[in-house]
Amino acid sequence: LSTSSVLGLPVHLLTNYAGWLLDRLQQQQGTHVVTLNAEMAMQAESNEALAAIIRQAELVVPDGSGVVLYLQFHGNRVRRCPGIELAELLLRQSVTLEQSCPVFFYGGAPGVAQTAADRWQQQVPGLPIAGVQHGYLTIDEQPLLLQTLKDLQPHIILVGLGVPRQEFWIADHRHICPNAIWIGVGGSFDIWAG
Ligand code: UDP
Repeated sequence: LSTSSVLGLPVHLLTNYAGWLLDRLQQQQGTHVVTLNAEMAMQAESNEALAAIIRQAELVVPDGSGVVLYLQFHGNRVRRCPGIELAELLLRQSVTLEQSCPVFFYGGAPGVAQTAADRWQQQVPGLPIAGVQHGYLTIDEQPLLLQTLKDLQPHIILVGLGVPRQEFWIADHRHICPNAIWIGVGGSFDIWAG
């Protein structure tokens, strides 16, 4: 992948991020997608563990306009790729594949991810929603979620816990579903739920 950098972090330069992800999905190549904005890049400056996770992500997209302006200023041809739009494209295009690609939504206040999932099923009737979990589990409740993910093996796992919680959570748990596409989606469930 063509790669540039912002504050020492990689950003991948592609003309079609969703298309690249769709290929990964089809080939079941486990992928962590980080949607980089200026706030996250600045957090990573003082948080080496977060920086390490971003460096290890298979795909880092330029989510924020600050990141895009910085890259353009340094001579890169690049357009913004907002994480929520990337997730939307991936979900819509996943149903065109021959194989079924179950999706899991994790995060948001109780009820939010479920409402978002219901909306998605109205919009894209063939979309297989494997499961939904709100983002305020206690430590005691976490193992059940991990077991559920292990059993379900969703192909797409959207994690909306906010930055950097979602990035740490994905890095810690992606081995449970090694072939899945994992995307930290911030507050996207709130937006989809209206
Ligand atoms: N959230 C969560 N669990 C937590 C903390 C936050 O599920 O312990 C959710 C919160 O409900 C919201 C999202 O994480 O849906 C964070 O949204 P925000 O827009 O703040 O994320 P950002 O993209 O700015 O990181």
